[in-house]
Amino acid sequence: MKDLTQCVLTPAVSSEGFDPLGVGVHRGSTIVFKDAAAYAARGERGHQGYSYGLYGTPTTRTLEAKLTSLEGGAWSFLTPSGQAANALAILPFVAAGDHVLIIDTAYPPMRDLAESDLRRLGVDVDFFDPLSPEDLSRKIRDRTKIVWCESPGSTTMEVLDLPRIAAIAHARGALVGVDNTWATPLNFKPLLHGADIVTEALTKFVSGHSDILMGSITIADEALLQPIRSLMGRMGIGVSPDDASLVLRGFETLGVRLRHSERVALKFARRMAEHPLVDAVLHPALESFAGHAVWKRDFLGSSGVFSMTFTDDAAPHVAAALDAFRLFAIGASWGGTRSLVAPMPVERFRSATAWRGPDLILRLSIGLEDEDELWADIERFLERLEKSQSAQANPGRAEGIRHG
Ligand SMILES: *Cc1c(COP(=O)(O)O)cnc(C)c1O
Repeated sequence: MKDLTQCVLTPAVSSEGFDPLGVGVHRGSTIVFKDAAAYAARGERGHQGYSYGLYGTPTTRTLEAKLTSLEGGAWSFLTPSGQAANALAILPFVAAGDHVLIIDTAYPPMRDLAESDLRRLGVDVDFFDPLSPEDLSRKIRDRTKIVWCESPGSTTMEVLDLPRIAAIAHARGALVGVDNTWATPLNFKPLLHGADIVTEALTKFVSGHSDILMGSITIADEALLQPIRSLMGRMGIGVSPDDASLVLRGFETLGVRLRHSERVALKFARRMAEHPLVDAVLHPALESFAGHAVWKRDFLGSSGVFSMTFTDDAAPHVAAALDAFRLFAIGASWGGTRSLVAPMPVERFRSATAWRGPDLILRLSIGLEDEDELWADIERFLERLEKSQSAQANPGRAEGIRHG
């Protein structure tokens, strides 16, 4: 063989005896076939076979298999982000004239997808109260194709009674999809509590290092496989094996990272609930939290992310007091090694329920730093908050501004 040909062709080397613990990164768009007949019959390989890089490589299939097993599902798909997973879990199942119900506390881009794209495509959209299965019963119709859930709710942490919601949806022939990003498949398995589809933003705890965007869709029943797989193919959506291998690496330490974050988050949540300027700590594992009983019944643990609200007097000073943090970084997303804090508005993202109180919720994501140093950082923030609040409250108490 001449040099130029040798440069192009891959020589056969033995992989015999090479058994690494991790999965290799298999890059490939083209997959070659041994003869013309095998190529002609490639469609018969089905979803388990390999036909083109977009439809899976051994690397992506390994990650999918891990998710399928942990979620207790039939098959999983990887998407370029968590939000892509949510969108692709709904789009294959709706057409003009159909109706969808979305939880009022959904991740805000889901509300946006429903209100802009689904409505533009002629799909009717309603939102329902996460804490009222009666509200769902009132709003569900025979045309309802999917009931979209997220538990606990984004930012405000309402815990759903998923088995009840699934029973209401299934009685009308609707699918139930759940965004399970907060819990991860270690802390909640929605498919075992009545959901048909579960999505994860692997971007968060599962990949765990704030350097990857990826999502997953896992289905309970193979009947849902073709609609999702073929829409993803038509839209040309797949993920890179390099990214998948980083998620696989993160996955190996998910258990210990999550348990650590869970423990520290719960400890901090209890302490913060005692603070006079904190109005409420929104954390499903707190006994005082409204959804605690349902969480305890259905979930296997809690996560490293929780939120809190402040008193009317303190809330206007929270944003400025964030500058007191030195270890917690200010930023969106969560679930990485670095602890994060983000002030979140919620009022504009609610329509079936009304948010009462100051429209500023502080969300904390607990990372892997030394917990005493993290707590000292929170104390710095709370002290700054106390100072700015009392500086304003004391001179002008009579005409002090009240919000909410
Ligand atoms: C972050 C997040 C998503 C989206 O994940 P991306 O990978 O950032 O698109 C979806 N759902 C929930 C609950 C999230 O927190």
